[in-house]
Amino acid sequence: MTQVPNIRLNNGVEIPQFGFGVFQIEPDQTATAVREAFAAGYRHIDTAQMYRNEEGVGAAIADSGLPRDEVFVTTKLNNQGHGYENAISELDDSLKRLRLDHVDLYLIHWPLPHQDNYVDTWKGFEKLLADGKARAIGVSNFQPAHLDRLAKETGTVPAVNQIELHPLLTQVELRKYHDEHGIATEAWSPIAQGEVLSEQTLVGLGEKYGKTPAQVVLRWQVQVGNIVFPKSVTPDRIRENIDVFDFELADDDIAGIEAMNSNHRTGPDPDTFGS
Ligand code: NDP
Repeated sequence: MTQVPNIRLNNGVEIPQFGFGVFQIEPDQTATAVREAFAAGYRHIDTAQMYRNEEGVGAAIADSGLPRDEVFVTTKLNNQGHGYENAISELDDSLKRLRLDHVDLYLIHWPLPHQDNYVDTWKGFEKLLADGKARAIGVSNFQPAHLDRLAKETGTVPAVNQIELHPLLTQVELRKYHDEHGIATEAWSPIAQGEVLSEQTLVGLGEKYGKTPAQVVLRWQVQVGNIVFPKSVTPDRIRENIDVFDFELADDDIAGIEAMNSNHRTGPDPDTFGS
């Protein structure tokens, strides 16, 4: 079975660097996909209230028989749930759907700067951390200005910032900011939803290393220190994606992938999303 390394978050909690994302998996297919992922060796599941499939994740965890401390579960606060009280009650509802008494990581899904409520929301997250309902708390899609504000107005540095990050959007500046502030980088859409896989650089590297373009991208993500959780409902791809711990990309190949950056977003811009 694949050995996935852990990364130590800024409050000491350990997170498996490689997990399984369930965005866009139909609620009634989610338990099956997560069971497949467990069988392939994944022990970290990334879901969200917005995905409407926390029940499926919870069912697969319950059926797996895995001890609670061997599965790392992340969920995210939905956009209409900003605010101190809402952040708390929404996690209680998630926990019921997940059949858990705590999550390992709870994230603010989007900053929604026009609502200007993420600071109060974060204070709700601090309460959840103190109460043990989340072992770690973090954010998603936050820009440096939003992180700066949390630093000024609250007492807890987010453990992670989960951002869109793949070869066409390498996020050099945000990664640097994270490194300087003790925030772990989580890369969402790590293979750009498949968009990058026919790029010549990646096809060539796949041939060089005897791996698929998807494995080359995921290996790059791991080697530069990002936490990733590719999504697939296809059993062969679920196994393929996590099979990236038996080879190493050379430094110039890492540089070649980083050079593909074109600041191309496949998803929304966090500064304007929701406004
Ligand atoms: P990914 O980059 O993981 O790509 C998923 C797509 O690629 C699916 O269409 C899948 O198809 C296909 N695919 C997967 N593996 C392979 C492979 N080996 N070869 C070819 N195609 C493949 O995209 P996601 O957007 O799902 O991102 C991953 C996770 O990140 C999400 O599931 C979610 O947990 C998180 N996320 C977070 C966001 C946020 O705002 N915080 C936003 C978006 C994602 P198929 O399933 O048919 O096999």
